[in-house]
Amino acid sequence: MSNFDLQGIGMTSQRTRDRLVVRLREQGIVDEKILRHIASLPRHIFIDEALAHRAYEDTALPIGHNQTISQPFIVALMTQLLTEVPRKKVLEVGTGSGYQTALLARLCERVLSIERIKALMPKARERLSALSLRNIQMRHGDGYAGWPEHGPFDGILVTAAPPELPEQLLEQLVIGGRLIVPVGDGNEQDLRVIDRTEDGFVENVHDRVKFVPLLGGVTHR
Ligand code: SAH
Repeated sequence: MSNFDLQGIGMTSQRTRDRLVVRLREQGIVDEKILRHIASLPRHIFIDEALAHRAYEDTALPIGHNQTISQPFIVALMTQLLTEVPRKKVLEVGTGSGYQTALLARLCERVLSIERIKALMPKARERLSALSLRNIQMRHGDGYAGWPEHGPFDGILVTAAPPELPEQLLEQLVIGGRLIVPVGDGNEQDLRVIDRTEDGFVENVHDRVKFVPLLGGVTHR
């Protein structure tokens, strides 16, 4: 038995999700597979009950411990950039609520995800198993170091912002692999898209985005 209401909050959940998808499409999310998954994934179970009625607004929401579940548009955009070509094994840095993890798990063969705040992990795990997603491995740790034991990865997605490009993550990409990471201090960052090629790395800067900072070390709270 799951603790979650997977049917949605009353009858409005599917309708509000569909409305969100319309908005995402208008904003340039064109990958129909991603839009289909966003239309079916219950984002409200990734948010505390008190805020769940806002789950299908296109906005970041607090998940405790000073962290947020990312804005749906940003989740969709990063996922679209990551999966422009199919990626089998992907690493996510910053599990948070687990929503982005769930979307990746629907699109990729295997998802590994690292979170530095231990207290966020049990809920994320519970939600992902309520959705019967079994191709996910999670670890408590500092994502700056990546997860070399399981690398290299076809894709790496960082959902918090480091002040500078985390070099160790680049080394964990396969040739042909892609890293997506918001880089910068303060309130706004550049969304960087870095491809590993035979000859090195090719970087594109995509957009101005707003993320919580990627912090060093781990916390056992
Ligand atoms: N993808 C998540 C985003 C959560 S916010 C979601 O949509 O729910 C970013 C997350 O990154 C937070 O949970 C934060 O604790 C985590 N984080 C920050 N620095 C980290 C680090 N160095 N290693 C791993 N996780 C980190």
